[in-house]
Amino acid sequence: MIKNLLEKFNYLQFQQDLITWYEENKRELPWRQTNDPYLIWISEIMLQQTQVDTVIPYYNKFKEKYPTVNDMAQADEQMILKDWEGLGYYSRARNLHSAVKEVVNKYGGVVPKDLKQLGSLKGIGPYTQGAIASIAFNKPEPAVDGNVMRVLSRVLLITDNTSDAKTRKIFEEIIYKIISQDNPSSYNQGLMELGATVCSPRSPNCLHCPVRNHCRAHDKGIQTELPIKNKAKKQRVEKYDVILLRNKNGEVAIEKRPNHGLLANMWQFPMVRTDQIKNENIEEWFYAAYGMKINKQEELYKFKHIFSHIIWDLRVVEAELVKEDSNELTFVKKEGLIDYPFSVSHIKAMRYL
Ligand code: SF4
Repeated sequence: MIKNLLEKFNYLQFQQDLITWYEENKRELPWRQTNDPYLIWISEIMLQQTQVDTVIPYYNKFKEKYPTVNDMAQADEQMILKDWEGLGYYSRARNLHSAVKEVVNKYGGVVPKDLKQLGSLKGIGPYTQGAIASIAFNKPEPAVDGNVMRVLSRVLLITDNTSDAKTRKIFEEIIYKIISQDNPSSYNQGLMELGATVCSPRSPNCLHCPVRNHCRAHDKGIQTELPIKNKAKKQRVEKYDVILLRNKNGEVAIEKRPNHGLLANMWQFPMVRTDQIKNENIEEWFYAAYGMKINKQEELYKFKHIFSHIIWDLRVVEAELVKEDSNELTFVKKEGLIDYPFSVSHIKAMRYL
């Protein structure tokens, strides 16, 4: 199948057109000014599911605060999460931190060039492995993400369903055959850049595309029908009450989330699934959950927070501590909240304190 796809495909000319365009037109991004595999690694992790403009300040902060593998390895995980606060998908930060520690302990602080070793680090999947190997070590390795699959689906008229995990393997095999051996870094980055800036999902700018002459989908006028993929699943909605609880000293109750699952190890105000509260009696539920008597006061406001697979429908309520029979919660002054990593949803709730 791959042989058929690549028949009559002038991949050498494609390489040249793509690389020339990339080198003349690439956006000046901070991680493009370095070959340091550690910094490229940070940027690639941050860029997963996240817009370039959002990543830039975080990348700059990490580069300045943790300039080397050793600096990050020595940092406390809570500090890393605090610095990642607002960027979302916090498991990326936890995995990065634990992999960086592994690099120090196992590889003497040097990011391994060996593909197997690189790919065995926590949080480094096939895409990130290929991106670091090609960009930092100039190895002709594929780095297949959604942008790359979109571009190549169109150029080569590939109709396999890109939502199937096995389809990525097909793209990897193709790229092994057509990647530039001399400049795999610019080749891979060129594919990514083309997908991000020209060959967009809904309205590809074919008129200004450097590889238009190679593009079979454009030739047939079906570029917007590719790539083939499943429709995104509808997110499920979960309703919660978030409780802004103050004690008599005016301190606010917070708690650390469990060390696994969504937003692991991040901090939050106590919250409960609304459908778990019998007769809407928050006080009763709160006593059962935390051993603390509270007085619910005002309902302050409602908002939604959207994750990739869930929507949190949040109702923020204010409450006062009456009696504390446990120390399940941590009470801190409002000014002290800044020391704890919170997810964006709870930062929004914080505004109403
Ligand atoms: S010609 Fe159009 S569809 Fe083909 S790669 Fe370029 S932008 Fe994408």
